[in-house]
Amino acid sequence: MNQLHSLTNKSTITQDKLLTCIRELQKPGPVYTPAPLIQQIPHLIRYRKGDPADAHELLIALINDTSESISQIFQGQMSSTVQCSHCNKTTTTTDNTQDISLHIAMDSSTSLEEKLYDFFQPETLEGENTYWCDTCQESCRATKTLSYTHIPTILIVHLKRLILGKKIQNHTPFDTTLEMEPYMTPGHAVSQKMKLIGIISHQETKEHGHYVAITNRGNEWTSYNDAITTQTTLTHLHQSQACVLMYRKMEKPRQNGRKMTSFRGGMAKLGAGVDNELGGSAPHQCR
Ligand SMILES: [Zn+2]
Repeated sequence: MNQLHSLTNKSTITQDKLLTCIRELQKPGPVYTPAPLIQQIPHLIRYRKGDPADAHELLIALINDTSESISQIFQGQMSSTVQCSHCNKTTTTTDNTQDISLHIAMDSSTSLEEKLYDFFQPETLEGENTYWCDTCQESCRATKTLSYTHIPTILIVHLKRLILGKKIQNHTPFDTTLEMEPYMTPGHAVSQKMKLIGIISHQETKEHGHYVAITNRGNEWTSYNDAITTQTTLTHLHQSQACVLMYRKMEKPRQNGRKMTSFRGGMAKLGAGVDNELGGSAPHQCR
């Protein structure tokens, strides 16, 4: 973890509390309550005690409030190209993203790969979404296409299970590897395989919701359910109702890989450590 500190350019209060929390979570021993980090949370997201929580929103808020060196691990770059159907002129804008948010339909169990494919399909802008074309000087029908110009070292995929306080229970099949090349901007596209390193799943009882993290190290998968840490299996992983999945580039990162693995596992555990007591919003890629 000291090497992780050396990677950071400017430490933030959130980052210090986060790193303390990760160090404590990695130690064997009695249950650790991350009180200093929890006290920091109201500063990061909207918070009213009793509101439904969203582990994904907290995760993105934490990433955005750490140093640039850490947040860059999760930062990708996506371009949006809009082509006017009247004059055919294209306009491209590029934005940084920390994640992809994918909708889950109530009556569908399409796989993560299919949802990703749909996300990057051209979208027709018409009706209420009509595009204002500066060349035509009028609202025009247009086509919008998203693509990655840079895939982050760790890709966060958010499955939107909680809609207006209601949970969509459908199982979404996912693979432990992803090939991102089809979703990259032409000219930037190279084979980019990603490997699943952790998920946050949401469990629901009559009384409350609850987050559980499952992380990967080597061939082992470990479930973190509050104070209960157990080895688990790929079968169990695939049966879970994942709401956040983290994929890492399969190429070895330039930074120290072993230390970064510890940090990644800690981030997934932290995301799951939020019970349904927190709520709020943070910027993320969603359409
Ligand atoms: Zn036009």
